[in-house]
Amino acid sequence: MSAAPDTDILVLGAGPVGMTLALALAASRHRVTLVDAAPADAAAGDPRALALSHGARQLLETLEAWNARAATAIDHIHISQRDGFGRAVMTAADYQLPSLGYVMRYGDLAAALAERVARMPAISVLRQSRAVDWRADGAGVGVTLQQQGEVLRLGARLLVHAEGTPYDDPAVSVRDYRQHAVLAEVRTREPHGRQAWERFTADGPLALLPLEDGYAIVFTVPPAKADWLMGLDDEAFVAALQAQFGNRLTFTGAGPRARFPLALRLRQETVAQREVWVGNTAQTLHPVSGQGFNLGLRDAWELASLLASSPDPGVAATLQAYARGRRTDRQGSALFTDGIVRLFSNDIAPLRLARGLGLLALDLFPPARHFVAKRMIWGARAWP
Ligand SMILES: Cc1cc2nc3c(=O)[nH]c(=O)nc-3n(C[C@H](O)[C@H](O)[C@H](O)COP(=O)(O)OP(=O)(O)OC[C@H]3O[C@@H](n4cnc5c(N)ncnc54)[C@H](O)[C@@H]3O)c2cc1C
Repeated sequence: MSAAPDTDILVLGAGPVGMTLALALAASRHRVTLVDAAPADAAAGDPRALALSHGARQLLETLEAWNARAATAIDHIHISQRDGFGRAVMTAADYQLPSLGYVMRYGDLAAALAERVARMPAISVLRQSRAVDWRADGAGVGVTLQQQGEVLRLGARLLVHAEGTPYDDPAVSVRDYRQHAVLAEVRTREPHGRQAWERFTADGPLALLPLEDGYAIVFTVPPAKADWLMGLDDEAFVAALQAQFGNRLTFTGAGPRARFPLALRLRQETVAQREVWVGNTAQTLHPVSGQGFNLGLRDAWELASLLASSPDPGVAATLQAYARGRRTDRQGSALFTDGIVRLFSNDIAPLRLARGLGLLALDLFPPARHFVAKRMIWGARAWP
């Protein structure tokens, strides 16, 4: 790349992580261009509801992008296993916090970030523009975009990849869990009382996240059972959910369903010459521990802090410092989440016993409970 760059930092992907990064850089010396393949209103139709940690709320508040009206607080988390003993309860009061975390629809999170981005003159946004090719050299990166049939070429000093989950990328290792998450918003007879439920079953974890006056569920099952669940009418789906969860709540209705195949996808190298990968494109985790976006948010925050003080944002030393700084949090969160999935998604009797003992220990032994809770609340700051 020899000509003067069109922008300093080109962020590919205006999902929650890309937008957070752009906002965190808005007051820096760098010009930022956000590029996304989808139209502006696409996020509103995303079926995910995300559990956001207390730490995530603090970062989003700093960026004035916390959508307080769309957040439902989680004050308690109840963890148990179906057909096995042992249960643990975590409570916000134990951590002197207003809440352990919050649940928000992906669309509401993205809307608050997009609204804030629109008010920042230092950030340019190109929508319906898909990156199809990019080449880096020592001076910068040239990116080819397809914009509604037109081809556009942009030069930048740094290309940040925030395009979300990478499929078919040889630089990414994949562990397929052979589980699919079936998502829906459901209603119960009992009020949720700001309690989330994590119920481990032989099929996989079943999470109930309080959202407005119902729950958002993540119903994890083998692919063939997901086919079956997706084909049921609402009444039969509610009955299947009731059978999986047990009788502690009474389900009375369910909204539209969606499904996601689940795998651990880890990019081995998160930086290259004038390129860096953040959020889901760097690591895609199983949703069981609600870590994915929280981790991506911390990627964005740490990268922005380093870039803000670097006159040339693409300089190798800055990118290497970023990769080093994120290693423990990435690997710790991936191992933690992967461990839970593998320990809890089976019906092997000795493991069921070990899980029961583990849950009992979590409940009776505060240091064990605090170890888990602090990682959910603070992420990197809690790793040794
Ligand atoms: C079922 C499920 C439940 C989850 N629950 C939680 C939870 O409770 N808590 C939590 O923290 N996380 C959770 N996650 C993870 C969370 O959804 C992701 O970590 C988060 O959305 C990642 O954000 P991102 O910005 O990296 O990627 P994305 O949200 O995928 O955004 C990527 C953006 O890049 C754009 N794009 C893609 N390719 C191109 C291209 N070539 N050119 C231009 N633009 C492009 C896309 O249009 C999109 O807007 C869950 C995930 C799933 C599947």
